[in-house]
Amino acid sequence: MKLEFHGADQNVTGSCHLLEIKGKKILIDCGLYQGGREMDEDNAEPFGFEPSEIDYLLLTHAHLDHCGRIPLLVKQGFSGEIITTAASCELARLVLLDSAHLQEEEAQYKSRKASRHGQHVEVKPLYSVVDTLNSFGFMGRTASYNETMEIASGIKATFIDAGHILGSASIILEFEVKGKLRKIVFSGDLGYKGRAILRDPCYPPKADIVVMETTYGDRQHKTLKPTLDEFYTAVTETVRHGGNVIIPTFALERAQEILYYIREGIADKRLPDYLPVFLDSPMAISATEIFQRHPECFDKETCQVFKSGRDPFSFPGLHFTRQTADSMAINNVTGGAVIMAGSGMCTGGRVKHHLKHNLWNPRNAVIFVGYAAQGTLARRIIDGAETVKIFGEEIQVQASIYTIGGFSAHADQSQLLDWYHKPGEPDVTFLVHGEKEVMQVFAKKLEHTRVEIPGLHQHYNLEDLLN
Ligand SMILES: [Zn+2]
Repeated sequence: MKLEFHGADQNVTGSCHLLEIKGKKILIDCGLYQGGREMDEDNAEPFGFEPSEIDYLLLTHAHLDHCGRIPLLVKQGFSGEIITTAASCELARLVLLDSAHLQEEEAQYKSRKASRHGQHVEVKPLYSVVDTLNSFGFMGRTASYNETMEIASGIKATFIDAGHILGSASIILEFEVKGKLRKIVFSGDLGYKGRAILRDPCYPPKADIVVMETTYGDRQHKTLKPTLDEFYTAVTETVRHGGNVIIPTFALERAQEILYYIREGIADKRLPDYLPVFLDSPMAISATEIFQRHPECFDKETCQVFKSGRDPFSFPGLHFTRQTADSMAINNVTGGAVIMAGSGMCTGGRVKHHLKHNLWNPRNAVIFVGYAAQGTLARRIIDGAETVKIFGEEIQVQASIYTIGGFSAHADQSQLLDWYHKPGEPDVTFLVHGEKEVMQVFAKKLEHTRVEIPGLHQHYNLEDLLN
């Protein structure tokens, strides 16, 4: 009986934990490392276990840093069963296919570049679209929230709502050891209480061992009210002066959240009637359609909107632009529209075209509603660059720049502590999915139990932990 850590260890991406109990090997998440070239190399490294020996993969949610290495796992011999919620299953397919397309494009680009330097090497993607489609064949039973399922003889799993993105779950595993029932809880990513659309994270039962995320284990978030006030004011002021508002958008969850708040803002007369809004991201459009199919995941308020015959993600001025031609036509909109396009950090996608057409004009505004990593175009604009290079052209940054930081999809320190303490403290706590310094701050708050901050590929003997 073992618990092993193979990703998101003293790091926020690449989540992958392995539990060996009752003769079965159960993987919890199989995520991609994200954030630059070094991480690309990490993805190609061996998993740290033999994929063909894994019996089950339990997936907490469909973010790429939790599901993004599934096609690679299958390519390297996994033939077990993938179990997750219905919504996560649909979102994971969308996210993985997009990831495969990007990786194929990247590999082709690198191959062409090598050829131009006289080296005829074919750079291979981490996995292809075909590998990805193959991996979908291993998606097996779907988990419903709060319903315990016996995944294998003597091993029970319960998925409870983690309130992080649509379909997200914390996973409770139960099994008997020497006549005693034992529980291990994997938090997955925990959502921020009180946000729109999703329910708040569920509390797990008291467990022997907890493996928990610590993304924001060292800080508190701003409350939502000032965030929304700031957002509505920025949009209204810009549109009133005939300017466009560009919102670099993350396709999953944040895009739907912003649509939800724009619809509310119009209904509450905090935004102009018939505000033209373009959702210019095929992936965000597909994700929104998946949201519309999964009302079982929504909170009471959002369910009410549905029950009253309205769509929480739609309003009269909203246009979905899937086709490139429609996207280009948005360039002719000269005043008073909101344009939502990916990618969220402006590293690629259609938002770069919109920035090129709008950044130079002081009437316009750019509103950043999510995280922007060092080295990205979003970061340079946020940090106050006077000009930025987009498609080889120096563009003046004259538009108003807003960074609205209150739309987090992760629990903050006090919410993490509340989730942790409410059921009663476990015997051992493993901190994952956080920067090392953040984990150290968080660990100090858990002074009554044994806290471990595992390193990559670290193994623990369960018999030693469960006494
Ligand atoms: Zn996540």
